[in-house]
Amino acid sequence: MRLGRKALALLIVTAVAIGLMAPAAMAAKPLLPNEMGVRAYYYVQELNVESRVAETAAEVRGAEKVKGWFEELGYEAEIQPFSYVRGEQTRNSQNVVVFSPASKKPKTSPTPMVIVGAHYDSVAAGMGADDNASGVGAMLEIAERIRPFTRQYDLVFIAFGAEERGLRGANYYVSQMSEEDIERTIAMVNFDSLITGDKLYVHAGQANRITWVRDEMLKYAERHKLPIEIQPGLNPDYPAGFSPGFSDVAVFDRAGIPVAGFEATNWEIDDMDGYTQTEEFGSFWHTSRDNLATIEEMVPGRPMVRLAAFTKVGFEFLRHLKP
Ligand SMILES: [Zn+2]
Repeated sequence: MRLGRKALALLIVTAVAIGLMAPAAMAAKPLLPNEMGVRAYYYVQELNVESRVAETAAEVRGAEKVKGWFEELGYEAEIQPFSYVRGEQTRNSQNVVVFSPASKKPKTSPTPMVIVGAHYDSVAAGMGADDNASGVGAMLEIAERIRPFTRQYDLVFIAFGAEERGLRGANYYVSQMSEEDIERTIAMVNFDSLITGDKLYVHAGQANRITWVRDEMLKYAERHKLPIEIQPGLNPDYPAGFSPGFSDVAVFDRAGIPVAGFEATNWEIDDMDGYTQTEEFGSFWHTSRDNLATIEEMVPGRPMVRLAAFTKVGFEFLRHLKP
């Protein structure tokens, strides 16, 4: 049996995943740190220690963790607190926001802006590994990879709070954007629930139906032979290629911003509405099965392969983007 470098890396990562090596050893000395998806996987492991229910101290701990990681990568990160009324009570949550200005003055004015986002809160059941430590992991690895590259656009990373309470963090963030910032935001890229579903998807927004960001993502997926596709539109309520409006991406879509939303699920089974993630096991979403150990047990190796694919495509998009 011939083992290429990639296959070897995957073996090592799998060994780590199934616990042959202590996770602490990996944290101190990452194995093959340049392998796509390895850093993202590490963040998923580190978040997979407690659920991060919106409005709780655990959610605050999640926010602080994510903020700390952005700072380790050399970014300035801020906690953006917000509150909302739910059940006649005022509730508190917070986003983590990184603003990274363009490293080179662009030809056009105003400077274009790109937003990359993923919610870090979860429901109480499980550890929110798929939903949505996975998206946070991909976002952080992309933040690390894009840092040395020249960019002619401002780049914003947002880890949203209280997504599970009705996209509260995204709603607050957009409500605080100026007209000018909304105008100059040429793309919003969102990652939500990446490591469990049968198939890999990228959606455009159903509200404003601008497709260029999604189409760029599909181009990079094809170029790197990664099986990321559009949802096939088998259910007439959900036209092919568009996100039906859940997840934070919908808020930016409704504001008129071009979006691409990544997720892994299966749009070809049950009601064909994307709610059933796997043919074999049904959904992991919002159940106790949404923790990394269970996911690795039920769909072994899938998380690493998924993280590698989504991270690669998101990173390639940002790296080559010349607005
Ligand atoms: Zn989610």
